[in-house]
Amino acid sequence: MPTPLPAPYLVAVSQPAAQLLGLTAQQVADSLDILIGNAVPAQAQPLAAVYSGHQFGVWAGQLGDGRAILFGAAATPGGPLELQWKGAGMTPYSRMGDGRAVLRSSIREFLCSEAMHGLGIPTSRALSVAGSDQGVMRETVETAAVVVRMAPSFVRFGSFEHWYYRKQPEQLKILADYVIDQFYPEVHASSNPYQALLEEVTRRTARLIARWQSVGFMHGVMNTDNMSILGLTLDYGPFGFMEAFDPDHICNHTDQQGRYSYANQPQVGHWNCYALAQALLPLIGEPEDAQAALDAYQPAFAAELDLLLHAKLGLTPLDAHADHDRGLFDAMFALLQANGVDFTLFFRRLGGLQMADASADAPLRDLFIDRPAFDAWAQQYRQRLQAEHSVDADRQLAMNRINPKYVLRNYLAQVAIDKAQQKDYSEVTKLLAILERPYDEQPEHEQYAALPPDWASHLEVSCSS
Ligand code: AMP
Ligand code: MG
Repeated sequence: MPTPLPAPYLVAVSQPAAQLLGLTAQQVADSLDILIGNAVPAQAQPLAAVYSGHQFGVWAGQLGDGRAILFGAAATPGGPLELQWKGAGMTPYSRMGDGRAVLRSSIREFLCSEAMHGLGIPTSRALSVAGSDQGVMRETVETAAVVVRMAPSFVRFGSFEHWYYRKQPEQLKILADYVIDQFYPEVHASSNPYQALLEEVTRRTARLIARWQSVGFMHGVMNTDNMSILGLTLDYGPFGFMEAFDPDHICNHTDQQGRYSYANQPQVGHWNCYALAQALLPLIGEPEDAQAALDAYQPAFAAELDLLLHAKLGLTPLDAHADHDRGLFDAMFALLQANGVDFTLFFRRLGGLQMADASADAPLRDLFIDRPAFDAWAQQYRQRLQAEHSVDADRQLAMNRINPKYVLRNYLAQVAIDKAQQKDYSEVTKLLAILERPYDEQPEHEQYAALPPDWASHLEVSCSS
């Protein structure tokens, strides 16, 4: 059961998430006692789920919903969505934790869930954030908040690892059969459905991480207990969006080794699938069959990323150009890194490049310190565009649908958090509205697309949440 919080107040509701439930934002807002966990919906039987996992590459044993409580499911046009409180108090799996979440991290999870959805990237959703002035001890005393989040399922790789390491094959099978019946019914047609399940999860994970890479998203804590069995982005903590491009960037201050750096994410995704394969082995049978399923990762990742990169550059993937294009992409990333170019601004401005008129390059070119190096790359890129008779206006339209103008930069979240801590929630709502349509120009919000201010370079995000 959730533990009530004193004098709750509403911080924000996501209108599109409310709409999924067939509710207006106002109807959701009117249910504040439910949103904060002070009232339990009629007939709900709240529960916390157990799972285990590998944290930073090391077996961590039993974890579980230490501060998440499932309180129901709602029928939606896309199928049932489970609803959880995050931060509503202790559960049997809270271990040393207090079962709470702070306003700061709750606003970050709320905004990023909805921002990822706006970007078209598979994710759990967030319906609301509600707060209370009850103090919560982190590095300093902060205040409590509860996010209501939604997903078809919150089952994780670690949910399977749990029963495997506990040596409880019957429970493992019940869980796998449930996941197959509910979410992967097509694998029943396979001669080895559990192998087919692993292969499909492996593919979805590979594709998800390619999508992350394509927008510069870094999860920060890709432990196996944070990996969704549905290939959703899950458990937002010290995430970040790439700004000055550096493949070795580590968004999580706690991750000193850089295990979850931008460049490592694809490999770690694969490693996590190995952990899942190990757990499913009693059901799959032969290690070779599990290995065969895992072998789907690399090609699925490479194919998805290749498609995305072509789209980001407004190019049609053509076999005849495949080698040349890889060279073009590599040279581009090397240039972005050498010049510390802002990832989001680069791709968005690249859409404005004119094939026949380099004098229009200024806004793009200005992002580089080494302008001659940019000019040399741009010349190669123009030649490639000419080779496929690209049309400037059409290309820009298409590129603007894949290169977001607005992402949840850490400093934008921080400004909204600072205001919210002063009881002004307007910036959370405003940011949410902008991030719901990240591909639209929204000229009135131009400053939200700008480079981070100087003070933002001191921002550090850790696991503390
Ligand atoms: P995370 O890395 O944030 O996904 O959390 C790892 C594990 O710690 C999960 O089992 C969480 O439920 C648990 N956890 C994190 N913070 C708390 C907290 N404040 N109280 C109880 N459990 C927590
Ligand atoms: Mg987690």
